[in-house]
Amino acid sequence: MEIAGKVELHDLPRICPLLSRHVNPRFGTDRTRIVEVGHVRFGGERPVVIAGPCAVESREQTLEIARAVKGSGADMLRGGAYKPRTSPHDFQGLGLEGLKILREASRETGLPVVTEVMDPRRVEQVAEHADMLQIGSRNMQNYPLLVEVGRAHKPVLLKRGMAASLCEWLGAAEYIANEGNFDIVLCERGIKAYPNGEYSRNSLDLNVIPAVKAETFLPVIVDPSHATGVAMMVEGASRAAIEFGAHGLIIEVASDRLDAAKPKCDAAQAISPRTLRRIIHYIEVRQEQFVAAAHAA
Ligand code: PEP
Ligand code: MN
Repeated sequence: MEIAGKVELHDLPRICPLLSRHVNPRFGTDRTRIVEVGHVRFGGERPVVIAGPCAVESREQTLEIARAVKGSGADMLRGGAYKPRTSPHDFQGLGLEGLKILREASRETGLPVVTEVMDPRRVEQVAEHADMLQIGSRNMQNYPLLVEVGRAHKPVLLKRGMAASLCEWLGAAEYIANEGNFDIVLCERGIKAYPNGEYSRNSLDLNVIPAVKAETFLPVIVDPSHATGVAMMVEGASRAAIEFGAHGLIIEVASDRLDAAKPKCDAAQAISPRTLRRIIHYIEVRQEQFVAAAHAA
């Protein structure tokens, strides 16, 4: 994928001397840094697909969905054990028990696991069970958390704050890099915008993908589930993200086999394993076309 021209971000070299590709030549000025999570490689030729439930709700639910997403061709498993919920009265996640379930699902399927950590005091515990640590949108500017995660010697998935500028987002990533950890994957997950709530949950900012690539060597993926909040929009958003050069996707999936199929969390945006399979097939076909076109050029 081509690197776009430099965009106007005057403060970025000062805020991000480690992560600006224009200031830090460590990883080359025109390449993407490969971030490895087990056998999975972010930033390479093949987009990575992470899939799984919004939240780990039970052992049965998580194992079932883990097997299903593996069957659909996903590369990694997602699932929240600690959930950031708008109301303290809503399901908050299973905590340590959820982490253990994720570990078991990972062992059985061979899929590395990414899960969110919200509390600096829990970083060690989450890092013991997960292959990649997720910083959620709400915590993008929780600087003590970013520092702790930077010290954890684990790859990090850093979601964009829901109203964060590119400069603020990369500044957050710089906190992690500043602790010596450059294994950071950025994730665009939709931003607050005028029509939010009317026909979708957030607005997917695809424009930021080429802009990220112009400014930093870190890989960037897209979360079409939280970006839209609507299951029937997820497939189109996924395809569009791939066309814009995303290095991967993170997608919420629900099981259509379980009786209690309706998830406790984010049910409206969960897609079926079949739809996931179609998205992954699309990625594979486009990948072959990209490679063929590159050879022909
Ligand atoms: C999530 O991926 O589980 C999540 C809560 O997403 P976000 O932080 O983007 O809202
Ligand atoms: Mn969710």
